[in-house]
Order: sequence, then C-alpha cells, then structure tokens
Amino acid sequence: MVDLGDKRKLVHFLISSCELLNKCKNEDEKVAVSNYIANLYYSIESVLNIKFIEKKKNNNIFGNRRNYRKITKKLDCYYYNMLDSFFQFKSFSKDYFQQILVEVENDLQSVNDGIYYTFSNLSKDDFFDIFYQFMRFIHLDKLLDYYWNNNLIYSVFYSNNQNDLGYTLFNPINKESSIYITDFSYSIHSLFVLAHEFGHIYDFSSLDQNITIFNQYYYQSFSDETYSILFERLLFRYMLNNNIHVEECRDNYLSMLLNRHDLLLRAYILSLLDNNYYLNDNYLSLSRSELANIVKDHFVTESDITDFIIHTYAFDLRSEYTYAFGDILSIFLKNQYDDLVYDFNMKRANLDIQKYLVDNRLGPTEYIKYYKDELKLIKK
Ligand SMILES: [Zn+2]
Repeated sequence: MVDLGDKRKLVHFLISSCELLNKCKNEDEKVAVSNYIANLYYSIESVLNIKFIEKKKNNNIFGNRRNYRKITKKLDCYYYNMLDSFFQFKSFSKDYFQQILVEVENDLQSVNDGIYYTFSNLSKDDFFDIFYQFMRFIHLDKLLDYYWNNNLIYSVFYSNNQNDLGYTLFNPINKESSIYITDFSYSIHSLFVLAHEFGHIYDFSSLDQNITIFNQYYYQSFSDETYSILFERLLFRYMLNNNIHVEECRDNYLSMLLNRHDLLLRAYILSLLDNNYYLNDNYLSLSRSELANIVKDHFVTESDITDFIIHTYAFDLRSEYTYAFGDILSIFLKNQYDDLVYDFNMKRANLDIQKYLVDNRLGPTEYIKYYKDELKLIKK
C-alpha cells in the first residue's frame, strides 16, 4: 500500500495525467478521461489537505472553455438518457422501496438496540493476512496481487472529509483502476472499505472496456454499487464463518446497514417527486422544508420524516439510486451465487435492473427474507 503523502509529487502526477486528454481518439473517450482526471483531483483534494483553485483545475483538465462546453454537453446528454430510464422504472422502484422500508424498519431498529462500538487496531500483518485470505476465498487473490505489486492502492491516515472513505478510479486509457482510501488504519473498518473498493475493481475489470459501454454503464446505470456492496456482504460472512473479530465486525456491519437503510429511504423519497422536478434539475433547488412538505403525506409520522429530511445531507438522484439498487441486487447475488461471484456476469444497463428482478422473480418479499437472515447474524 502506497502512502499518499508527498504533495509535490502528487501535484506533478495530476498535471501529467492531464496529458492523457491529448491521446483521446474521440469525444466519448474525452468525456471518460476528463471525468477520470476530475475525480483524481477530487479524491486527492479530499484525502489530502489541499484545495485546488476551481478555475485552475478546470484549465488543467479541459484546456479551454470550448472543450469544457463540448464535454459538459456530452455529459448532459448522458444525464438525460439516465433520466429517461429512471422515469421508466420509477414507479416500479417506488413500490419496491416502500415495501422493503415498511417491512424491515422494526427488525433493524431492534438489532440496533444497545450497540456499542469497539475499535481495536489490528497489526499490519494481521490486517493484510485477513484481507489476502478473504480475497483467496472469493478466488480473487490474483487480482489483489496485481494491484498490490503494481502499487495501485493508496492510503492516507487522515482526511478532510468525513463522508468519504474510499474511491476507485478507472483510467480509461490504460484500463487500470486505482484505489484511494482516506482515514486509513489497520482496523476492521478499513478492511470493509478495502473490500468495498475491490468490488469496484472487480466490476471495472470484468466490464467490457469499450469506452462507449463504459460511459453507458458509468453515467447511465444505477447498478455500479452492486459489486462493491456485495463484497462488503461477502467479507462480513467470511469474518463470521472464520470467527475473526466477530463482535467488532458485527458493530461495523450494523453501522453500514444503518447507512444503507438511510440511503434507501432517501431513494424512496426521491421516487415520490413528480417527473417535472427532475427536468432541469429542479429537485436540487428545492429547500429541505419544501421537499419535506411535498412528500410528508406518504409517511405515517410526518414529524419523523420532516426531521430526517432536514437533518440529512444533500439529496442526489444518482448516488441514492446506485446505493439503493446496489444493496438490493447484491443481497440476491450473495444468496444465489455465494462463492461463485467471480463467475457472475450481470448485464450492466440501467433498464436491466427491473428486467433482472422481474425475470428472476426477485421481489421485495425475497429481499426482506434475505435481509432478515442477515440481521440474525448481527444480533448478539
Ligand atoms: Zn462505492
């Protein structure tokens, strides 16, 4: 693991990575590369205590205003394609989310009772040994070796931003990914973050790397958190089955489940808005209290939901939906394929989520059953 410490080297790395833009063969590739570089800036800003000046950053990445406009135009186009498919399966998702939320709420809260967090640090050797054995268990030790030996995993022991834990960035030119982990420590918590990020690595490395397909998957689909959350689920089972730091794993996993539950609720809230709120991004300009007013009738206890909306961070359609469907799809993958995940190839298009769930009869009832089984593992 490479310590992401030397700021001067990093800045140099950022500026030199902007040269990748000159190697792009077409507009699609330019979009993917600009996005990669922008994310690189963002990740590095957020893991280190540096803030690049926005204008300078844009100049480095896009060169000039014309290029910038061309790329944002293309991104808008992807965004509207994503909205189209979102509109098509919005009512399906709404019903799906609602049924889950109603059914799991009490069970989740009962498990949540009396939790206390312990944070013991592992030794460096133990940390890597556990992770290596886990990757071996899911037959991906060669993938780990590759990322390890080629210094593609970066970590810092502190961060600027408490919401961010890790990033996986896919370089569309050399088709390689790299991982950035913030607030890293040799802890159970960081083990889960690493597993999550390796889910993304697996996802990108098994994706047809044709740039158009990548862009469609990355900008238009809601399924790109599926494998990352699946890997969290797999690590949790692995730790329990092998009796490794069980108590601490349960605490960590519970806090992850609570986060994901909030994201599902947020996705449900977004599914309650009329389509016109999404055109021209109107939903983003709603204040928290306006949003609460619009959706509160759908909830039994209005004050609870108003409170939730007011105290939660910004709503974002893409991230809420990717985590909600990541959670849903991954629980099915976990139960259908178990340790055969590496053989699984799910078609990664947005519309296919609904088709996949319907064709395989994976309704909310099935989800709830698996979810409750998972909660039993957390209960002490
Ligand atoms: Zn992720």
